[in-house]
Amino acid sequence: MDCNKLAELLFPNITETPEELETRYPPRDLPEGAKVTRFAPSPTGFVHFGGLFPSMTGERLAHRSGGVFYLRIEDTDAKREVPGAAEGLIRTLARYGVRFDEGAVIGDDGRITDRGSYGPYRQSARASLYHVYAKKLVAEGKAYPVFTTDEELDRLNAADRKAELQSKIRTEEAAAAQREEMLSHRRFTLEEVEAHLRHGDPFVLRILSDGDGKKTVKATDLVRGTLEFPENDEDFVLLKSDGIPTYHFAHAVDDHLMRTTHVIRGEEWLPSLPKHLQLFRYLGFRPPKYMHIAQIMRIDENGNKKKLSKRDMGANMDDYTRMGYCPEAVCEYVMTLLNSNYEEWHMQNPDKPYTDFPFDIKKMAVSGCLFDFVKLNDVSKNVLSRMTAGQVFDGLTAWAAEFDPEFHEELTADPAYAMAILSIGRGGKKPRKDLAVWADAKPYMSFFYDRFFSVTDPIPDRFDKADIDAVLTAFLASYDEKDDAAVWFDKVKKIAASLGFAADMKEYKADPDAYKGSIADVSMFLRVAVTGKTNSPDLYTVMQLLGAARTTARIRAML
Ligand code: GLU
Repeated sequence: MDCNKLAELLFPNITETPEELETRYPPRDLPEGAKVTRFAPSPTGFVHFGGLFPSMTGERLAHRSGGVFYLRIEDTDAKREVPGAAEGLIRTLARYGVRFDEGAVIGDDGRITDRGSYGPYRQSARASLYHVYAKKLVAEGKAYPVFTTDEELDRLNAADRKAELQSKIRTEEAAAAQREEMLSHRRFTLEEVEAHLRHGDPFVLRILSDGDGKKTVKATDLVRGTLEFPENDEDFVLLKSDGIPTYHFAHAVDDHLMRTTHVIRGEEWLPSLPKHLQLFRYLGFRPPKYMHIAQIMRIDENGNKKKLSKRDMGANMDDYTRMGYCPEAVCEYVMTLLNSNYEEWHMQNPDKPYTDFPFDIKKMAVSGCLFDFVKLNDVSKNVLSRMTAGQVFDGLTAWAAEFDPEFHEELTADPAYAMAILSIGRGGKKPRKDLAVWADAKPYMSFFYDRFFSVTDPIPDRFDKADIDAVLTAFLASYDEKDDAAVWFDKVKKIAASLGFAADMKEYKADPDAYKGSIADVSMFLRVAVTGKTNSPDLYTVMQLLGAARTTARIRAML
């Protein structure tokens, strides 16, 4: 068979050569050791929490080494594409500080465009590039067309997908049957091809595999080390009947032409690695280094480890926005999952941003990371507690503008007041940790606003109404806004003692029956009257912020 002739028949319009493309996309001029990485999502929906792992890893590795990190949109599967998903993806990643140096970006008109000289960065705009290499493979006898009817094509595609999914559990028999089918397509004549083309029959292009499934091939993963796989013996599809490449083929061409040094992707691609290495060899490309990131797991209702699936709470990055997680907190949490020594480093460098952390491939997890809201909230509380009141105000109001307009209105009506509230317990060695998400702010501080004030935790029934009234009345009689904290507290103690409550906790504990209650109970009566809750920040400070008029009005209302 004259393979050059076959290549001409199949791709008559392709005149560019691989050599010309090498010149058009030259090796990048970067310092020694600089890594070129990419995030290459398919625009099929929202950004999954799991997507932050390869993207943040790629970003860290590129930027810590003085390299380049770019975004490639893998939109070759038009059936699965969701309109607007690519734009949403770019916006969400930007919110999480995942900075791309080049690639697909949102232009001034709100539509996706390219930045950088290794584009186009959307696979749907790269068909002619793929065809240059498809033509080369055919000309070298490494790929061949399969002409089939639509129904047959469907069946083949289905078989191909199934084979992909089941590559591990595929039975010998099914493999043999598929192999037989492939072999039958390898035997054809140029005349047959010409006749098909004249007839307008579509074809898929398959690789002519030289692999032997009984032999093994070694491949290296940067996290997992050297792995052994069966050689690929499947004539997998390179181009679908519409001329669009499969992921396998597209990523090989793209990662080569875009001069990617490190491919960081989900572990679901690990079984395809032998195919990819075979493809790089066929194309004469030097393969990139591969790193496969473990799947994110969660613990289900029965205590079993499960993959964090699309529908699970915590999978959709938009949920984090809605719940009011601040991106820095989520990023920091991801870092704790990605690198086992991050937490230790962070403890030693509490004030440094995660971008200063010496991210290390060797410290990455091989098995699935466990996702857990409790831990995330913990990290988040720490992050928020270290922010200034101004930073909290900005983050909170930005969130409230979208998700709680009423609260937003109150907060922004008097920013100095809001900021003073947010300053309580901030700064110092042991800052308060009341907030994990912006949505926690309202229950924490809404009592500062009359519009939201109500008594939500009443004083427990075990106290006598007359005793409570006596405390509140005595407090009103002695309250002076100008008192400092010490004087204020002294007065409360005196009121307690005069009304049969222990002013000293030790004395109370020594003989509780001798008292109606303690100073803690007296403070609690005042607290509930003023804040509506049994738990609040420092009561003296709260009264100072509320002012005498509001403080006394609330106490009177309770009376
Ligand atoms: N488009 C592929 C995916 O979303 C990308 C895998 C890769 O990064 O190479 O799974």
